[in-house]
Amino acid sequence: MGFFLGVVNGLGIFALVTMMYGWALRKAEPGLGRSLALGLLFGVGASLSIANAVELAPGLRIDPRAVMLVLAAPFGGPGAATVAALVTSLFRLHLGGSGTMSGIANIVAIAAIGAYFAHFVFEKMQPARTRDLLLLGLLCNVPFLFILTVPVDNASQIFLRTIGPMTVADVIGVLVLGRFLCSERKAFVFGRALEAEASTDPLTLLPNRRHLERRTSEMVEVARRNGRPISVLVIDIDRFKQVNDTYGHDVGDTILLKVADVVRANVRKSDAIARFGGEEIVVAMADATPAAALQTAERIRLAVDDKVFHGDQESGNVTVSVGIATQEGEDLSFKRLFKAADEALFLAKDRGRNRVEVAI
Ligand code: GH3
Ligand code: MG
Ligand code: MG
Repeated sequence: MGFFLGVVNGLGIFALVTMMYGWALRKAEPGLGRSLALGLLFGVGASLSIANAVELAPGLRIDPRAVMLVLAAPFGGPGAATVAALVTSLFRLHLGGSGTMSGIANIVAIAAIGAYFAHFVFEKMQPARTRDLLLLGLLCNVPFLFILTVPVDNASQIFLRTIGPMTVADVIGVLVLGRFLCSERKAFVFGRALEAEASTDPLTLLPNRRHLERRTSEMVEVARRNGRPISVLVIDIDRFKQVNDTYGHDVGDTILLKVADVVRANVRKSDAIARFGGEEIVVAMADATPAAALQTAERIRLAVDDKVFHGDQESGNVTVSVGIATQEGEDLSFKRLFKAADEALFLAKDRGRNRVEVAI
């Protein structure tokens, strides 16, 4: 009965850890923050396990701490494993008793085993096959040998009586939680890929209009709040239809790609950029004065004129025209900015192309 309740308890902790794992992946960007969050998660999971240990017989307690600790590195990275080991060790220290030092050595060793396998053994540092999880489940019991260093008479007896049931429990635990975490991670990676695909233009790999609209709405909100300007550039390839008609659609595509690269290389990371429609690229620049926007637009125009050709260099160069608009204040809106910049672009085309015009 006690063992059965222990299993239910363990499964509850696994479910909780799995849920929080998916949540942490989605909420925390890769880096220190995520390592810390996942480390805390595995550490708290392991501590909960220790607190919920099952008493098989008087003096004979087992718990699934090793499951959480050994999976911390494969599913959270070495940083998470370190944090998990630290949190669990502190909890073990808090419990006290004659087995404290051996308990902490056990905790650190289990996390280290997970880290070793994640780093040196698994493909892409991740356990994906049942065989990988089985291995972790078996090996996470080895540090239990530390119990033999506990200064009590019956340490070896406890070891011999516990190691069997504990190995079985841990192997099953690692298989179950490992599978849970695998599918959670898969769902996360798949979701991210879908998201990226839905907001990327497949030809130029620039963000698409949907993505730009999302980013500019955030940008506009911040600019309005702080009373700062936003500038928008609308960049359009000159006589592109003629290029397509003369050299073919494939050459047109290549040119579009090259122009996209030039634009990308000439804006800042904080600028929002997108392939907006057919052959129009839009850049929204937060905090950019008309002078700064003009400078960027001229840099892009000159770079395209300089570096993008129809075919070889003799066949003539491709040019772009750019319309710019800048706004600030209460009635700032991306729609209005775009419309003004588009009108300026029209003017640039009208005045001979390969030029930049600023909306008045
Ligand atoms: P203008 O100098 O006035 O801009 O002349 P234009 O010929 O470039 O005129 P416009 O901007 O209206 O033409 C858009 C052309 O862009 C029409 C279409 O053939 C071409 N185009 C749009 N998307 C693509 C694409 O993905 N690949 C290729 N190859 N061509 C495209
Ligand atoms: Mg054009
Ligand atoms: Mg156009």
